[in-house]
Amino acid sequence: MAAKILIVDDEEILRKIYTDRLTFEGFAIENAADGEEALAKVKSFGPNLILLDILMPKLNGLQVLEQLNADPSLKAIPVIVLSNVANDENIKKALTLGAKDYLLKTNFSPNEIINKIKTLLDTGVEKSYRISPRDGYGDVIKLSQDFPFMNFYKCPSCGGNLVFELKSDTKNPDSHEFVTSVVCDLCKKKV
Ligand SMILES: [Zn+2]
Repeated sequence: MAAKILIVDDEEILRKIYTDRLTFEGFAIENAADGEEALAKVKSFGPNLILLDILMPKLNGLQVLEQLNADPSLKAIPVIVLSNVANDENIKKALTLGAKDYLLKTNFSPNEIINKIKTLLDTGVEKSYRISPRDGYGDVIKLSQDFPFMNFYKCPSCGGNLVFELKSDTKNPDSHEFVTSVVCDLCKKKV
């Protein structure tokens, strides 16, 4: 499943631009047109990231941030504020309430904003795990015979033990597949 982004803005044209662009980039997208709808969608859609406007009907962006911040189960969702309002007090408040970034619509192109979203999702979601191949169990021996670079799980540089490093798929946080590398547990070099 693709990473999910909730786009919150009362301007339909802006929602459409970002929905089209981010869908094309492979993300799953939902929209909300005001603060109340945003909070309802956060709960039903469970986004991995929220793109949040400030000036909106019902609840404004800062009020949405306050409510997210007050809920331990929603607090960790990264939020990028995308606003027309260049007001120091708003910026300070948004960042204090945990927004990762406060971007002015006039200063950033959609391309730049999409790059920021990707960077934030990558650093926010990637998890890595080091796993030791247990001697003789299953295909541990066969694997190192078939792939001589594994050198029977001894590091060619320092002689330390080699382990498997599993990385989660940042683009698909719900995926059950991992990317695996062989690394030295001692010198940390990738083999
Ligand atoms: Zn080593």
